[in-house]
Amino acid sequence: MRILVTGGSGLVGKYLQKILPDAFYISTKDGDLTDIKFVRWMISSYTPDVVIHLAAKVGGIKDNIAKPVDYFEDNILMNTNILKVSHEYKVKHFIGILSTCIYPDVVENYPMKEEDMFLGPPTPTNFSYGYAKRCLAVQIDAYNKQYGTKYNYLIPCNLYGEFDNFENENKMHFITALLYKIKNAKDNKIELLGTGKPLRQFMYAGDFADIIKLVVDNNITESFNVAPDFNYSIKEMAELAIKAINPELKINFSNPELDGQYRKDVDNSKMKNLLSNFKFTSLEEGILRTYYNE
Ligand code: NAP
Repeated sequence: MRILVTGGSGLVGKYLQKILPDAFYISTKDGDLTDIKFVRWMISSYTPDVVIHLAAKVGGIKDNIAKPVDYFEDNILMNTNILKVSHEYKVKHFIGILSTCIYPDVVENYPMKEEDMFLGPPTPTNFSYGYAKRCLAVQIDAYNKQYGTKYNYLIPCNLYGEFDNFENENKMHFITALLYKIKNAKDNKIELLGTGKPLRQFMYAGDFADIIKLVVDNNITESFNVAPDFNYSIKEMAELAIKAINPELKINFSNPELDGQYRKDVDNSKMKNLLSNFKFTSLEEGILRTYYNE
């Protein structure tokens, strides 16, 4: 089976390289996926049976607020090009990777199920990114309806792991930024943005790569949320990391307006029905692995 992975140099892509070593991995060094000519060249040259579409323009809250056009257009263009050309070249299995940012900012009942996606607009802090990703769900479902394809999408919660970007503070995801601050703490203090109250599901990115491989190996064509059961507050996660790495540290919270969405936990029962034996890495184990291996 010929597998092509877009976004192959990213956080998830690096874990996939370890467990699917024979797949083809594409990054911006190979070309720009917003350019349909490159995408046509790529799909016609590699002739994949399976496309795992990881590539996306991804960034932190501040960058999302500053550049909403870039987050919308780059993602819409990449997704449209890859999906359209995969269908043109009769790719058998297309797996789109979304994000729980596609879900409404607020709903009445948590955790959110897959069918709750359209109950309201995504959170304002990454509205463009969330909407562009939501459009990919609409687009994949439309291909299945119009052309009878069996393409699907996975909706992962927040990710972290040792392949995350530990160089650029503006691009770091929460756990990475937290570990970076713990490592570089001065006067036994770390500063965290927001109030610490928002709740988040975090998944070790290696677990997500394992799940993608299971979806490919078992030809699973359903679309579903991917998240562990735990849903901790930012404060609880920071305390857990500090306890595991350096119990002397104290946390100072600032800029309460940068909290982002209060909660966005998703229901994982569909996933559990499909992959009943899957065991997630605990947050403590994942944090230690990330901290000491990065
Ligand atoms: P990442 O580390 O930010 O990597 C993004 C990848 O996309 C890189 O390989 C990058 O290539 C590639 N890319 C970006 N723009 C491109 C373009 N115009 N043309 C070609 N390639 C381009 O992403 P990730 O964290 O692995 O995330 C994988 C997927 O999961 C994404 O779809 C993301 O939206 C989703 N997701 C991530 C998280 C998270 O917390 N990380 C949570 C939920 C969902 P270069 O390396 O060459 O720049």
